[in-house]
Amino acid sequence: MYYTIVSGCCQESYFVSSERDKQGGSAIQQKKGVVSLKYTSTRDEAKSVSAAQAISQGISGEGGLFVPCELPHYSYEDLTELSKCSYEERAVRILKDFLTDFSETEIRECVVNAYGGNKFSGGHPAPLTLQQNGELNMYMLELWHGPTCAFKDMALQILPHLLTKSLEKIHSDKTAVILVATSGDTGKAALEGFKDVDGTRVLVFYPENGVSPMQKLQMNTQEGSNVAVCAIEGNFDDAQTGVKKIFTNEAVRAQLEARNMMFSSANSINWGRLLPQIVYHISAYCDLMATGEMDYEGEEINIVVPTGNFGNILAAYYAKQMGLPVHKLICASNANNVLTDFLRTGVYDRNRPFHTTISPSMDILVSSNLERLLYHLTNGNSQKVSEWMQQLSETGRYEVDEDIKRTLQELFWAGFCDDEATKNTVHEMFSVENYLIDPHTAVAANVYKQYVGNTGDVKTPTVVVSTASPYKFPGDVLSAVTGEEQPGDEFQQIMQLAFITGTPVPPPIGELQGKEIRFENHCRPDGMTEAVLAMVR
Ligand SMILES: *Cc1c(COP(=O)(O)O)cnc(C)c1O
Repeated sequence: MYYTIVSGCCQESYFVSSERDKQGGSAIQQKKGVVSLKYTSTRDEAKSVSAAQAISQGISGEGGLFVPCELPHYSYEDLTELSKCSYEERAVRILKDFLTDFSETEIRECVVNAYGGNKFSGGHPAPLTLQQNGELNMYMLELWHGPTCAFKDMALQILPHLLTKSLEKIHSDKTAVILVATSGDTGKAALEGFKDVDGTRVLVFYPENGVSPMQKLQMNTQEGSNVAVCAIEGNFDDAQTGVKKIFTNEAVRAQLEARNMMFSSANSINWGRLLPQIVYHISAYCDLMATGEMDYEGEEINIVVPTGNFGNILAAYYAKQMGLPVHKLICASNANNVLTDFLRTGVYDRNRPFHTTISPSMDILVSSNLERLLYHLTNGNSQKVSEWMQQLSETGRYEVDEDIKRTLQELFWAGFCDDEATKNTVHEMFSVENYLIDPHTAVAANVYKQYVGNTGDVKTPTVVVSTASPYKFPGDVLSAVTGEEQPGDEFQQIMQLAFITGTPVPPPIGELQGKEIRFENHCRPDGMTEAVLAMVR
């Protein structure tokens, strides 16, 4: 393993000349034996902080996102070594290369707490299953075997441990106040990950009419002494914008300071959320190597990701930059297809209707993590990124330069589908493959088929990221499978779905029935600050 320098700012001292990397547009300077990997901000290249600082803070003071100044690079031999390890061991080795201010023992503790024991059913937190669809080599990467049945658990089970260790390292005895804006799954996963963790409080905001009934029930019944949940009279973007505003509101920060508290973030803008997601993309490839599915050294795969805030697919991009042989990153969107347009044309334009769909965790018009990609593709040009982000907040639109458009098209393929196509895909996957998927995963499967139809690329083995259990969306999945609307409440639908498909109901979903509702409050977006202050009082 060696490190590659990814951006042009904080490594000035040993940075001699830069050569543009064909694939990613990043400078590839090699540096061996790094002892301290630093993180900088996408909007301020003067920033240089440790991993502990980046994870504690969540977002940089001026509103930028933290990015690593260097990336570990894995050779074929390194991947071969990893392929012989368990998921936990893979996670330890990869995290260690990024968190150079943590000891290996500390990292191992975090990893075991997150993925060990029986937190994830079935032994492997991120298993691959082959769905041989005609001539296609399609592998489903199932990321929903955790406690809340969505892929957010992969990161949010470990983030609280990384965060509390980070706070210790920066000698903070402050209570971390975690604000979460959720489009459905993050909220529950954060509540579950942080509940009763000493030195933390969690407050989750979700769009009142923008999450599935099951998602709402999961959040409103959350147990724990340090948690709170509030519905927003608005959509996800309102919730996310509100949270970002509170983070950067000096007056609110001062009030927290006076109570020996500080804000942190569990949204995918936090590096501690993104990093654990890199692991499962690499792990999927290792599993393909370990089971003999890869035919030759360096054989490439496609990765298809149902995308919302651009966190999951950005983790796949980092994996590619770290040496994982990836042909195309396929970005799948629902009717909120702002990313499809952006990746195809280089114009990001959020001035369009917001659609509430049956894949609610992807109902997003402003994908926060795209900012990190832009930073890397501009070779660490924080000034340019700041300008685009300012244009986005003022006019809702920006356009990237020609060379970046070309790089985007080399790296990504993008597509979208509407609710009807999503349901058809759920139906088809079940009737043809006997494999039950949720609506988010169906968007990915649908876009993958569009990709194959469009490019003729049938032979590249393809990993489709499966992000939620179908039992989180029983009404829509059941009606898709049977082809007609099904009466009954959520729990009747669950029983019927299990009966018809012969698949097991995940215990965390079944157990919600009859659970006490603890949270019923809601507020307008401009009342969010008040809600935060009420919680910390
Ligand atoms: C959050 C979520 C997504 C979108 O992931 P991003 O990292 O925000 O792009 C997709 N599917 C499900 C089920 C999710 O919970």
